[in-house]
Amino acid sequence: MGKATARIKYTRSLATSLAQFLENQRTYQGYNTELSNFLARKHELEAQAAKIQSQIEQQRRPAQVEYETLTQSHLFRLAYLKLMVLLPLLIIGALLLVKMRSSLYYPLVLGYGIAIIIKVFLVIYDYFPSKYLKYVVIIGLIVVVAKLLVYFIRAVAFPKTQWLLTQYREAYESFLCPVCEYPIRTGPRKFLFWTRHTVNKVVLPKDNPEDKPYTCPVCGTNLFEQCTKCQGIRHSLLPYCQHCQTEKTI
Ligand SMILES: [Zn+2]
Ligand SMILES: [Zn+2]
Repeated sequence: MGKATARIKYTRSLATSLAQFLENQRTYQGYNTELSNFLARKHELEAQAAKIQSQIEQQRRPAQVEYETLTQSHLFRLAYLKLMVLLPLLIIGALLLVKMRSSLYYPLVLGYGIAIIIKVFLVIYDYFPSKYLKYVVIIGLIVVVAKLLVYFIRAVAFPKTQWLLTQYREAYESFLCPVCEYPIRTGPRKFLFWTRHTVNKVVLPKDNPEDKPYTCPVCGTNLFEQCTKCQGIRHSLLPYCQHCQTEKTI
């Protein structure tokens, strides 16, 4: 009797387990199906992402090209504006160098000129990315600077040029020493005061004493001297005697 009961119990438990097993199996298969669905979905989404990625890549290329073009033209504009400011300053520096070469403040002007040249080179170096163009511009600038230097050196080495004669002429016309600009106080102008701007407004006294040789009291330059030929008083720094046309090398 006991044996039969045990057998029934066993059979029942077996049936329950089997049912449980089958149930689990079904759930498992359900999950499996779900998993493979998800995998398929994942592949589909990945394919879609790759497609979009390639689309972005295609659209990025023209954008990149346009960005580079715009950056380039922006840099050119900046460089152009900077050079438009710097080049007049460079020209002013060159003029000052030539004009003030005997001045006390010459080193100041020289420093200014060198600083401007360095700045110009830096701007060219930064803003002209194409090596070829960069070197063309730099060589061009070197030529310009060399020409200015040659002009400057010639002006120093050959001071008795047309340019110097013009300076002398203008100074004599204003009755100012051509070397130091101190007024030439000779003849009726002996007790007067004037500058380059007021020279024509000065009223001269009526009496006109005779001409005498004259030396600038400030710099000691001989300004009026006796002509070696006619003994008249002539300009020491101009080529011809006003009385006898004798030419003198300046
Ligand atoms: Zn003088
Ligand atoms: Zn003479």
